[in-house]
Amino acid sequence: MTSLPLTPVNLDAPARRAAMPPQHLADLDLAGRQALVAELGEPRFRARQVSTHYFGRLVRDPRQMTDLPAATRDKLAERLLPTLLTPVRELACDDGATRKALWRLHDGSLVESVLMGYPDRVTVCISSQAGCGMACPFCATGQAGLTRNLSTAEIVDQAVYLAGVAASGAVAGSPPRLSHVVFMGMGEPLANYNRVVAAIRRLVAPAPEGLGLSQRHITVSTVGLVPAIRRLASEDLSVTLALSLHAPDDELRDELVPVNQRWKVSEVLEAAWEYAARTGRRVSIEYAMIKDVNDQPWRADLLGRLLAGKLAHVNLIPLNPTPGSRWDASPKPVEREFVRRLRDAGVSTTVRDTRGREIDGACGQLAAAEGSETVGTGETP
Ligand code: SAH
Repeated sequence: MTSLPLTPVNLDAPARRAAMPPQHLADLDLAGRQALVAELGEPRFRARQVSTHYFGRLVRDPRQMTDLPAATRDKLAERLLPTLLTPVRELACDDGATRKALWRLHDGSLVESVLMGYPDRVTVCISSQAGCGMACPFCATGQAGLTRNLSTAEIVDQAVYLAGVAASGAVAGSPPRLSHVVFMGMGEPLANYNRVVAAIRRLVAPAPEGLGLSQRHITVSTVGLVPAIRRLASEDLSVTLALSLHAPDDELRDELVPVNQRWKVSEVLEAAWEYAARTGRRVSIEYAMIKDVNDQPWRADLLGRLLAGKLAHVNLIPLNPTPGSRWDASPKPVEREFVRRLRDAGVSTTVRDTRGREIDGACGQLAAAEGSETVGTGETP
């Protein structure tokens, strides 16, 4: 496949100084919140009190924190609970089991998150950047480029907001408690490393410091920024790493995942195995099935040879349609043959469901275009 020009990857923040939002309590650990509260001349226990509302009860609106004296509440709200996300639109499909939320950030940037309910768990897919600089040609987010990194609290607040939606019983047939978070929304999480790691710490810290999720229920998906994968392996975290591989050979991966021009398949897999060894966690290998592009039997065999005997699991993603894309998903028989060959090679393989497709909420479809005329059921203004 030689039709595409190789796209330069923007690994750095844009030249224009991006407008980061005001500080929020989710940017700070509990000690940091206590110090801030003391600085404001309030007793330190207020930090725990506000944190209990936010992380423990999923109350984000200071006006509902009625156990705080009014003056204190206003002061704390201003410094600890500025509005970070303004909901623009919510779309639902799959009988309400999938919901996509579009948010406007303080500087007008738009980002999206997706809530997915299953019989045994509730997952949110959150964004780590407004836009993305990785330029993968089959991904809608990659087409618009990077606007800016999200702050730690902007990342966490997506999960807290949607945990509140789940807790209200909005996702019929699913447990009310948010259990899983995947960093598979807009952006490249490892390109916003410090803020994403801080966000993970907030998600896993027990309430009221954080949301109290299990580390094993958090997945960070990356195009394969090798130094950042190594760094993540050295944190005292054991979240699941998902690697967007999409091709087993450098020639094709250079085009599908342009960052491969910097770190080759062999290097990124080596970093993944190091991650698996350090954390004991099985690495998830993501592979979008693109008709006549990466779905040939020989590529399945090559992938099988690369992964056999490794602590890995393959997650095939039927290509989701994106605007202007000339690529299609692989036909089902081709997909089945690909799965068969991987399994024959001894590699555990599953095919991801296509949740949220009708509302452009599935993998690679998040583009945050306000007013894009995709209609889902249950649209709320
Ligand atoms: N930047 C990170 C996080 C995005 S996760 C990463 O690339 O891993 C979203 C997953 O969906 C990635 O594996 C991505 O490659 C995949 N994806 C992107 N566009 C897609 C599309 N049109 N169809 C199916 N999967 C897609």
